[in-house]
Order: sequence, then structure tokens, then C-alpha cells
Amino acid sequence: MAEEAEKEVTTFEDFKLNRQLLNAIEEAGYEKPTPIQLKAIPIIMGGHDVMGIAQTGTGKTAAFLLPILMKVKYAQGMNPRAIILAPTRELAMQIEENITLLGKYTDIRHTVIYGGLGPKTQIETINKGLDILVATPKRLMELYLKGELILKEVKTLVLDEADKMMDMGFMPQIRQLLEVIPRKRQNLLFSATMHPKVVELSEEFLEFPTRIEVTPQATPVETVSQVLYQVPNLRTKIAMLEHIIKDKEAFNRVIIFTRSKKNAEDVAKFLERREYGEVRAIHGNKGQNTRINSMEAFKGGDVRFLVATDVASRGIDVTMVSHVINFDVPFVYEDYVHRIGRTGRAENVGAAITFANPAEMYHIRKIENLIRMQIPEQPMPPEVKIHDITFDEQQAIARDIDHQKRSENPDFKGAFHEKKGRHKSNFEKGKKKGDPKNSGWQKTKKKGGNRR
Ligand code: AMP
Repeated sequence: MAEEAEKEVTTFEDFKLNRQLLNAIEEAGYEKPTPIQLKAIPIIMGGHDVMGIAQTGTGKTAAFLLPILMKVKYAQGMNPRAIILAPTRELAMQIEENITLLGKYTDIRHTVIYGGLGPKTQIETINKGLDILVATPKRLMELYLKGELILKEVKTLVLDEADKMMDMGFMPQIRQLLEVIPRKRQNLLFSATMHPKVVELSEEFLEFPTRIEVTPQATPVETVSQVLYQVPNLRTKIAMLEHIIKDKEAFNRVIIFTRSKKNAEDVAKFLERREYGEVRAIHGNKGQNTRINSMEAFKGGDVRFLVATDVASRGIDVTMVSHVINFDVPFVYEDYVHRIGRTGRAENVGAAITFANPAEMYHIRKIENLIRMQIPEQPMPPEVKIHDITFDEQQAIARDIDHQKRSENPDFKGAFHEKKGRHKSNFEKGKKKGDPKNSGWQKTKKKGGNRR
């Protein structure tokens, strides 16, 4: 029994979250907690103050939201019991989207308030009663000072991206807020860096905090040969995949990672149709038994390709993988490390091969920061046909890039909305004309979008 009690926490079930949350987590496709979630959730659920050093992409939002959703539990009263402050409207909106996602089976009321537009609708929503409020600091204090917000029931306060809030000069609003909310509360501070101003803030703001840091794990990255190709869109990714797997001998046991279940299914179907060898797909929609069987067949060497989403990546325990192909760049940056850790054999061509479209290149830079090295890049082989970027794809990529820029810089107005028309990317400027006939890939595709 004692052994039982000391069982290591590895799954979401182990956190003793309620069924509503577990169901939402499952539906979101999160199969296993990320490292920051493993570390932070039990401590936050234990009621402690936390100073978390983690970058975007580590799963930090769910790390603080899940315990808050547990604590707030259900709709009650009129006034917010948890406040989450974020430096930008974009980040605030993203956090609220995460609450919608994870709180979907609860009746918890939440909203997001930010500047840049009139407060009328926001005030109306607040007046209906709410449990969790996500806000940018100025708008929060503005509505409080107008008497529109009652903060005396706040029991949890989160400062997300605290370093950025300091940089953006929000300290006065934060100090003001700390004066008016109840002293007895739980405080959580998240920051990407240990900026001296953040340390100063944490001393003012946190009580005996537990410091949690997700540092890049001691990784095999240095020993795995990596290569990056900038591949403009989905159809070109397929052409590129087809090109590199031609070398059957070298590419004999390949794991292909995609971001979505749909891409996993589509890539697997494509390989099957073209008869490139035995293929199995594993992702969140596949039953446990199917997954185990697929894995066993792959391990046994009967299967050449395993197409997987990150949901499945951590459970993959296969040695002798010849190559890992990142068909899409992962959402959670640490997953890059998990993914490429599946291959141990360095090949000249690179045992871990990553395809990134222009929007994904932003994430590549973040991954490079995380792994503290640059992923060597190679030009696309001239034999691979560069397919036209469809209008939808161009829009999706432009929107994605705008989104990223805006989340980094709130003053960024966004090129996307100004230029409704098609503008050429660097890829398009230098490429050959694409063949309008499709390669058979689109039989199963309605649109060429490759979006998150
Ligand atoms: P964040 O660092 O909070 O911005 O999260 C980055 C991305 O990872 C978001 O798209 C989340 O939806 C996703 N995510 C968070 N937790 C998990 C998890 N345990 N498994 C898979 N994806 C996750």
C-alpha cells in the first residue's frame, strides 16, 4: 500500500482532477501532462504560491488553469474568485480560449477584458456575474476604479508572462491591484525569464513560493543529426516526404510526426495508397489496443512507417528508428525534443528531419532557443516540385504570422487585415510554377490548409 501511495504522478488522472476536467482534457487531445504540468499542478492544487519559469509552448496555461478550475469548481455568487493578468490582449484571449476548452463541462463563468475598445459590452458581461476573469492590467484597474468590478472575493491571482508585463510598464497597475484585493489568496507568477524585475516583483508578491522551472531536459539533441527544410505548404510537404523516403534502405523504420489527427490520417492514407510500405497511424482517436498493436508491429520491423501525433509521441518506446520526420512543427516546443529523441542513429542526411512552412518558422526559432542550438538548414532538393500556395493557405499562413507578431508586440497592427489580397512570400518569389494537377494527395483533402 505504501508503494501505492508513492506512485509517481504521470497522468492527468493522477492529479485527482474531477471528471468534468478529465473529459475536457481528453477531448482537447492532451494525453499526458507536459513537464511543467507535472511539476506545477500538484503544488498549485496544494494551495502554494508558485513562481514558474516557463516559456509559451510548454503547456504552462493549462498548468495554472486546471488547478484554478478545480478550486473555483462551479458558478457561485457574482464576483470573480480568480483573476489572471496577461500583458497583451492576444495572450489574454488565448488564456480565455483555454478556459473555454478546459472548462467546457463545468458551469464556471468567465470572460476576458482588455483595452483598445469601449468597455460597455465587457461591463455588461461582468454584471451578469462571473467566476474567473482574464484581463490586461490597465483595463482591469480602469473598470475597478469605475466601480464596475468587485474584487473582494479574489482568492487566486495569476500574473502570466510577468517579464513582459514589467517590460510594458504595468508595474503601477499591478501594485494598485495588490492593494485592493484580499491579502489572503494564492499567487501564481509565470515568466519566461528570471529578469531582475521579475525577481523583485516575486519578492513583493509571492509568499514562500515554490520555484518551478522547466529547463530543456538533458537531451539527445546534440547526438542526433538534425536538418530543417523550409517547405512552403502541405502539398510540397507531401512531395518532399515522397522524395526523401525513396531511399528504402536508409529510411527503413520511420516515425512521421504531425500536429493533428487529421494530418496523421491523411499522411498515412497517402503512404498506403502509394504502397510505400506498411503504415500505421497512432493518435488520440485510436483505441488503446489498436495503438499497442501498431506499436508492436512497428517494433517488430514489419511496419516501415509509423505516423503519430504528439499525443502519442511520449509513449513510443522503439529503438532502431532510422528516422524521425517532423511533417509539422510541434505545438509544445518540448515535444520537439521528445520527437527527435526517438532516433538514435545519425545518418548523413539527418536522422531528424523537420519540414516548416513560413508560419512554422516562427516556432522553429523558439525551439532553437529551447534546445540552445540552431537546427542546420538545407535548401529544398531541386527535384522536389514546389506546389503553389493556395489562396487559403496563404491567408492561413499570413493570419498565423500576424497572430504570432501580435502576441509578441501588442502595437503590431497586422499586415494581414490591411492586405486582403494575395502577397507573395519568399517561397513564391523564387519558386518554379506549380502543377495545377494534384498528386493524388488531394483526393482526401478538401482544402490545402495546414493550420494549427
Ligand atoms: P502554452 O504553453 O500554455 O501556450 O501551451 C502550448 C500548446 O500546448 C497549446 O496549444 C495547448 O493547447 C497545448 N497543450 C497544453 N498542454 C498539453 C498537453 N498536456 N498535451 C498536449 N498539448 C498540450
